[in-house]
Amino acid sequence: MNAYIFKFHLAVFIINCFLSGRNGHVLDETPVIDGHNDLPYNLYALLRNNLSGFNFSADLTSDPVWGSCSSCFTDIPRLRKGKVGAQFWVAYVGCSTQYKDALGKTLEQIDVIKRLVKAYPNDLLLATTADDIVQAFNQSKIASLIGVEGGHSMDSRLGVLRLFYELGVRYMTLTHSCNTPWADNSYVDDAAPVLNLTEYGKTVVREMNRLGMMVDLSHVSHAVMNQAIMASRAPVIFSHSSSYSICQHNRNVHDDTLQLLRNNNGIIMVNFYSGFVNNNATAAELDDIVRHINYIVDQIGVEYVGIGADYDGVDSMPRGLEDVSKYPVLFDRLQQLNSTRWTNETLQLLAGRNFLRVFYEVERVRDNLANEEPYQEWISYEDLDAVDNVSVWNCRTLLNNTSPSLPSAQASIAKRSFNGVVIFTVIVMYMFLTYSILA
Ligand SMILES: [Zn+2]
Ligand SMILES: [Zn+2]
Repeated sequence: MNAYIFKFHLAVFIINCFLSGRNGHVLDETPVIDGHNDLPYNLYALLRNNLSGFNFSADLTSDPVWGSCSSCFTDIPRLRKGKVGAQFWVAYVGCSTQYKDALGKTLEQIDVIKRLVKAYPNDLLLATTADDIVQAFNQSKIASLIGVEGGHSMDSRLGVLRLFYELGVRYMTLTHSCNTPWADNSYVDDAAPVLNLTEYGKTVVREMNRLGMMVDLSHVSHAVMNQAIMASRAPVIFSHSSSYSICQHNRNVHDDTLQLLRNNNGIIMVNFYSGFVNNNATAAELDDIVRHINYIVDQIGVEYVGIGADYDGVDSMPRGLEDVSKYPVLFDRLQQLNSTRWTNETLQLLAGRNFLRVFYEVERVRDNLANEEPYQEWISYEDLDAVDNVSVWNCRTLLNNTSPSLPSAQASIAKRSFNGVVIFTVIVMYMFLTYSILA
């Protein structure tokens, strides 16, 4: 038995020992680990990240600001009721920040997550390792992990990716709903692929493996899902995605990808959002989530599925799963409908143990790669130019005369200058002609 499998079993053993003092619901026996909660974005949107008037310890259901917000489902009392043992808090900034202030804003979101965790030491504990999750659970605290949602946040810079890791980020979603210069997002599936996962994109994946940062494939295109799984040297995750066969939305995961995921030993953490779980979103209910989970288990087994509800990232949740207090209801329903499949043991796999296995494995790959040098290449000017030859060059400075790709960038800039001259000339000629005619 290698050290990481031993650590995983030890973690299970420690949890079980700790439990001798608890009895009751199956979710008291293992941490519920949720892959995706966008509360930090609501802190940004509603409070400009100013936590001084924010009371996370209160039930916010009837709060004048948070109670009337259609995408707000989270506070500590309801997390406790929902028996959440670990939560990925998401540092998300919108696609409109790409090529502008995405990086600065992402750092602010990481900062607000850390300040939030620090402000509630009796309930939250910052976690950056799988062991930390177990430790937090044993201290009856909610392990708080950080994920970055969208590769645009790293601005195509591997140095930034490495510093994200140092700041405690443990997964990065390769895209949000926009292409980066190295990976397509899911909406290209409704049209046509643009880039797929480029060579630089594969380097990003390999560097994440080397760092020990999980590769999150929610939001990427079908092709990028498959290409990233093939490129990854560690198990990958879908932090908040459901099954395409059950609900035909481009954000969901196709069956062939599920098979690759099983071979990769990764995990799909099922998203609850009404629009992703039922083709008729207004009819979405708890049993739709049951259907997604059971379908995935039918396809690839019970070891590769988890929970990534997406609370606070969306404005509509299925009936029966209205907020973060509802996880136990889902687990009870699974067991009630199929107690042969859903024993306490398999419910614990779904709740968190599958994710812990993945996390320990990602750490093992990182440690095995300890002698590998950091990837040092820059994204090429051609790659940047291919995706957007205006915005990119308006916000990126060139390292003059030292880049082998400089001619391409110069050509791009020259092209833009030429276009500018043409437009200017046309305007002057138009004014001149108009003046001549009128005169
Ligand atoms: Zn998302
Ligand atoms: Zn999100």
